[in-house]
Amino acid sequence: MSFLTPNDATIYREELNPRLPRRIFDAHVHIFERDAFPAGFAFPPKNCYQRFGGAFSLSQWRDLVAELLPEQQVSLNCFGTPNAQAMREVAPPADNVTVFAMTLLSPADSAEVVQQRLADGRLIGCKPYVNYAAEHTGKKTGDVEVLDMFSDGQLDLINRLGLAVTLHIPRPGRLADPVNQRQMVELCQRCPRATFIFAHIGRAYFLRNVVGQLDRLAECPNAWLDTAMVNHQEVLKYTFDHFPAERILFGSDAPIAFLRGKSVEINHQYAYLMAEDVRIGSAIYDSEHVIEFTTFFYEQLRALLDTAPPQCLDDILFNNANNLFSRLAASLVAG
Ligand SMILES: [Zn+2]
Repeated sequence: MSFLTPNDATIYREELNPRLPRRIFDAHVHIFERDAFPAGFAFPPKNCYQRFGGAFSLSQWRDLVAELLPEQQVSLNCFGTPNAQAMREVAPPADNVTVFAMTLLSPADSAEVVQQRLADGRLIGCKPYVNYAAEHTGKKTGDVEVLDMFSDGQLDLINRLGLAVTLHIPRPGRLADPVNQRQMVELCQRCPRATFIFAHIGRAYFLRNVVGQLDRLAECPNAWLDTAMVNHQEVLKYTFDHFPAERILFGSDAPIAFLRGKSVEINHQYAYLMAEDVRIGSAIYDSEHVIEFTTFFYEQLRALLDTAPPQCLDDILFNNANNLFSRLAASLVAG
């Protein structure tokens, strides 16, 4: 059975394929097999990963991408899923040609252990997450600060090796949170040789959260953004108008992006309108099946194609990420 509906196929043929470059780089993908979890571990029944059989391997990703983007060659940067029980020593299999990978990072991991994991897996960076910092510091998830997500030794390592860090920023105020604003800049200044990719445009999924909040980051030459799960046209347009396009990466957040739904702004908040009854953040499920949805993945590409400056599309959708991650992989080999 194919994953694509006839409606998806029409969207691809009419709206996407004619405008997409032949090569795409997805800079934000979660890849993990069952061996990344202890025996007996299972996600809760309504967890979105259950839709993919409780794991999401590189070959599952390849199969779906071949259906979704049949005429594109797609590269990716990937990492596991930052579940408390995920074994952080297990990383996706990188080839550093079309598949680049990062290690999950808790501030509890010693710099030596992290360096070993990077070397063993030929990884180009790391992916910290709020829950690991909460567990390590004893703070409530909502109180975690950007700088809680790393130990001093990790920051030294990240800077010394010039790693990439995909950072999902904490705190309910998201991109507009003043503590985040200050600490994102501090982080970039503290590790000038590293590249910080602020995921989901700093989680700014509604317009008020992004307006006025990109200027200080734009001034940091090592601050980058990925667009994962952002399908809000005004947020994207604002971002392209206020942040250098050469530091913006297309990312999807697959496999979540392969679910059917759309993120919409409601009263200075956002909700995921969902065709499927799965739990992702602020989801509202269309239980009566009133709407014919397509995937978040297509909604993201659609919005990006409608808002990115046309002359920057190849860079945002491929070149920026391919150049960045290839350069990092080469420099790690060179030592
Ligand atoms: Zn993600």
